[in-house]
Amino acid sequence: MGLDDIRRRIEAAELAAGRAPGSVTLIAVSKVQPANRVEAVLEAGQHVFGENYVQEAQGKWPGWRSRFAGVELHMIGPVQSNKAKAAVELFDAIHTLDRMTLARKLAHQMAEQGRRPQLFIQVNTGDEPQKAGILVDELPGFLASCRDLGLNPEGLMCIPPEDEDPIPHFRTLCRLADENGLALLSMGMSADFEAAIAEGATHVRVGSAIFGARDYG
Ligand SMILES: *Cc1c(COP(=O)(O)O)cnc(C)c1O
Repeated sequence: MGLDDIRRRIEAAELAAGRAPGSVTLIAVSKVQPANRVEAVLEAGQHVFGENYVQEAQGKWPGWRSRFAGVELHMIGPVQSNKAKAAVELFDAIHTLDRMTLARKLAHQMAEQGRRPQLFIQVNTGDEPQKAGILVDELPGFLASCRDLGLNPEGLMCIPPEDEDPIPHFRTLCRLADENGLALLSMGMSADFEAAIAEGATHVRVGSAIFGARDYG
């Protein structure tokens, strides 16, 4: 299994960056993975997981949560507005706050349910037309509007364009977090989590390097 190897590589990257051991949270991205692979990783003591689809997570996690203590579930995929209720019920963190309509729905549901999942704002660091995320220039205004709603985003998240060097995107995200007083940075996936840690990631989202390739068939 890739979990031990990824843990070692995270530790080495923390050390190389002069960062405290354990300062980076590994989110094991379990979307689409077969149950036996996820259970092996749970049994190995991993308790922080990421999912992309509300419905898929609703089907899988209540059962595992009753069998494994301390599971922490992070939503890292797009949240449709009509899934805000379920997302607040199910997740301990949401990395993909990316528009005002969703912010309003989440604020409403958080008040209604008395739950406060940790929030990250997704930033479209590449200013890609079709991509989710707040544009770089619009972040300060969006953050202020979220705070007006009583939300307290604690960090930023990005998915760099696939065909580009991710490092400039990681740097942009880090600078934006500094400028806006946000402590957490969700960045880095299987192919680039070490580079993300060097640039200040506090949360890395690693799927295939832990579980093996995803089979969407
Ligand atoms: C699927 C996914 C990941 C994990 O990707 P890998 O390349 O398998 O590590 C990380 N972040 C997001 C937003 C994802 O959708």
